[in-house]
Amino acid sequence: MKRKKVLITGAAGFLGSHLCDRFIKEGYYVIGMDNLITGDLQNIEHLFGLENFEFAHHDVSKFVHVSGKLDYILHFASPASPIDYLKIPIQTLKVGSLGTHNLLGLAKNKNARMLIASTSEVYGDPNVNPQPEEYWGNVNPVGPRGVYDEAKRFQEAMTMAYHTFHGVETRIVRIFNTYGPRMRLNDGRVLPAFIGQALRGEDLTVFGDGSQTRSFCYVDDLIEGIYRLLLSDYAMPVNIGNPDEITIKQFGEEIIKLTGTQQKMVLRDLPVDDPKQRRPDITKARTILGWEPKVSREEGLKITYEYFKSLPAEALVDKEH
Ligand code: NAD
Ligand code: UDP
Repeated sequence: MKRKKVLITGAAGFLGSHLCDRFIKEGYYVIGMDNLITGDLQNIEHLFGLENFEFAHHDVSKFVHVSGKLDYILHFASPASPIDYLKIPIQTLKVGSLGTHNLLGLAKNKNARMLIASTSEVYGDPNVNPQPEEYWGNVNPVGPRGVYDEAKRFQEAMTMAYHTFHGVETRIVRIFNTYGPRMRLNDGRVLPAFIGQALRGEDLTVFGDGSQTRSFCYVDDLIEGIYRLLLSDYAMPVNIGNPDEITIKQFGEEIIKLTGTQQKMVLRDLPVDDPKQRRPDITKARTILGWEPKVSREEGLKITYEYFKSLPAEALVDKEH
């Protein structure tokens, strides 16, 4: 039987590389596409040389060409951490809008099913907690985070339009904070920031008073949810995340305990429009996909810490601050 062929954009990034692994394991032919703006080929170098993997170095905001048949597209290319998208705001807007448009055009031409990586950021600084998919969000379009949030909201709207007007098979996953091996130690997100600080013997920088909440999902759980959603027949957005909500201060305490660091937490200014609370309502994922997270934060953090500890010493140098 001929292998199903899948295009994964953002393949050299944190989530994209784990998706490549999963689809290779399931026996697909995988094309990993990336322009390496925030990604790293090291995340997928173990796949080079496999007969069912190829890498394409390409910016998906420019016309995307794939030869032959194509069954699935997973669009994960986009800067994803606040410091990344604040540094490259225009590219962030372009990959969410022009990139998504290019890939939807490709999906239409190839009669492929396309899944897009949306985000809990479409809910902005939410006024309801937990957030169900029906919540329309509270986003400041002209604030610093607007470049990411609005790109993702446009991405959802464009995807729905291709579904409705062109009959393209589409899926939308709204991903909540996810962590695990292959995150960049210096990407500014809270988990690599805290673990990096602990490993370097620095204080942990808590933004604001640390009372804001997040709900952290281990990467393997997320990938399972995405895989199930892709193969389901549900075209409306689905939240995938772990509803175990925690304040950032409590999270800092957990990292101090995990790493055994002698350092303490220090307070820094809260970034503009930083959401005060975030927790997914996963009723849809539970009922439609039969999915729920399996990995506890204690277990997931241990695996992730071991990964960061195993990196060469130069990876610890904080080049960006
Ligand atoms: P990441 O930065 O590790 O990976 C993104 C990848 O996309 C990188 O390899 C980067 O080089 C590539 N890329 C960016 N712009 C591109 C372009 N124009 N053309 C080709 N490649 C490009 O980030 P991640 O955490 O793996 O996030 C992946 C996707 O998941 C993003 O779309 C992000 O918005 C979404 N998401 C992630 C999370 C999370 O917690 N990790 C939460 C919500 C949504
Ligand atoms: N945060 C923090 N210290 C850091 C980095 C982040 O206190 O060094 C906070 C940040 O202000 C936010 C939370 O941790 O309230 C999660 O931040 P992250 O950038 O990981 O993700 P997002 O804000 O996109 O959920």
